[in-house]
Amino acid sequence: MVRGMPGACSARGIWRQGNQALRQCVLPFDSVSSTPLSARSPSLSRMFNVTPDFNTDVNVHQHRIELRKVREKKIEEIRGRTSASLIPDSMRHVEEDEDHKTTARNLKELGQQRLTMEERKNRRRALDNLGVPSFDKFLADRNVSLKKSEVEILQLNIGLYCNQACNHCHVESSPKRKEMMSKEVAKRCIELLDKSPSIKTIDLTGGAPELNDQFRFLVSEASARNKEIIDRCNLTVLTEPGQEDLVDFLVKHKVRVIASLPCYSLKNVDTQRGSGVFEKSIHGLMKLNQAGYGAEGSGLVLDLIYNPLGGFLPPEQKALEEKYKTELSTHFGIVFNSLFTLSNMPIKRFADFLYRRGELQEYMDLLVRNFNLATVDGLMCTNLVSVGYDGKMYDCDFNQQLALGMKVNKLSSPTVFDVQSLEELRGLAVVADSHCFGCTAGNGSSCQGATA
Ligand code: SF4
Ligand code: SF4
Repeated sequence: MVRGMPGACSARGIWRQGNQALRQCVLPFDSVSSTPLSARSPSLSRMFNVTPDFNTDVNVHQHRIELRKVREKKIEEIRGRTSASLIPDSMRHVEEDEDHKTTARNLKELGQQRLTMEERKNRRRALDNLGVPSFDKFLADRNVSLKKSEVEILQLNIGLYCNQACNHCHVESSPKRKEMMSKEVAKRCIELLDKSPSIKTIDLTGGAPELNDQFRFLVSEASARNKEIIDRCNLTVLTEPGQEDLVDFLVKHKVRVIASLPCYSLKNVDTQRGSGVFEKSIHGLMKLNQAGYGAEGSGLVLDLIYNPLGGFLPPEQKALEEKYKTELSTHFGIVFNSLFTLSNMPIKRFADFLYRRGELQEYMDLLVRNFNLATVDGLMCTNLVSVGYDGKMYDCDFNQQLALGMKVNKLSSPTVFDVQSLEELRGLAVVADSHCFGCTAGNGSSCQGATA
């Protein structure tokens, strides 16, 4: 599954991205203007796409983060070494990595709910220290309010089980997580698909969604209804034992694959996503290409996701896509359709990562300083409903991880059983909080990349 989001530089260990001179003459929070939404033109982002720190270099292989040593390996060795499961390595990582151990200890001591509240408090405190109002007020001051328009995307987080245990995972997935969607909830989602003609896309995420019991059922049912189907794939799942027929299944249902690959270099991918992940990801991409994914005219779409290694904004999406295409094609003969850039969201493992290093405030400052009004129209919460494995509904996957339920019929945690159709949700106010600044910084961030 795919996730991400980031900001400025950090003090201890994280690669320094920021241009200090530029920072010292930073513009006010809204560097775009307070022009009302209705007055904005599509070319606005091109005119104003440089917020103060939206200047990350596209040579992302040069970005470094000091976490642990990763050995360089030769690509010729890849094919022969990627047949074993990644799960034992991920389990070992969860048990030995200091950040994972601290999170597990806090979870045990405080419980999920208190931990999430602590996290919200820390973020709020960081914004208070910076003198920044709530996200809602911040938008209201600029004559903007966030409301659901027509719901076109039904995003299902069908479970937290994953064969990986990435350091920045905003859903805190790993092989240790066993939560999965039940058949009852999966069937109800398909019923809602039938009752909500505005839904064009079913977007499956996790964990590793393919390892969930309901994945193939949901894909087959959505396919029979001619919906666009997205599989947010971590790539390594394609070489997991037991998944030998997965690529054929995806081809059969013309599933669009959106895959995480936070760099085209081994070192950076393994640093962020775990030892051995790069090789397996490359092997997964080769398998997809062999089946026709990414090839022009094949009708099989393969998109990649980049998220920064640390606390800085992603580079400009189109320029980075060109760089990825050149690198992946030159070194591995790999082709793909589009690259999406995501910012790292200051929540869960990434928020912990920042907080433990005393960098949360600096990151929040970066996000706020780079607020870009032109990103707001494209925020994914306006046309998407996110459903958790337990059937609860949210405005987006990030709200889901923070247990910020939608507000439907005065219910604070509505489920798919509380509505007759997702079309009922049109016009509802989106539930926003301080993490939302992660979606509006620079050129914006969503599950489909930049929004400005
Ligand atoms: S741990 Fe799994 S769900 Fe989380 S970011 Fe990594 S691949 Fe995605
Ligand atoms: S975090 Fe969710 S609710 Fe907030 S702006 Fe982003 S998509 Fe919208």
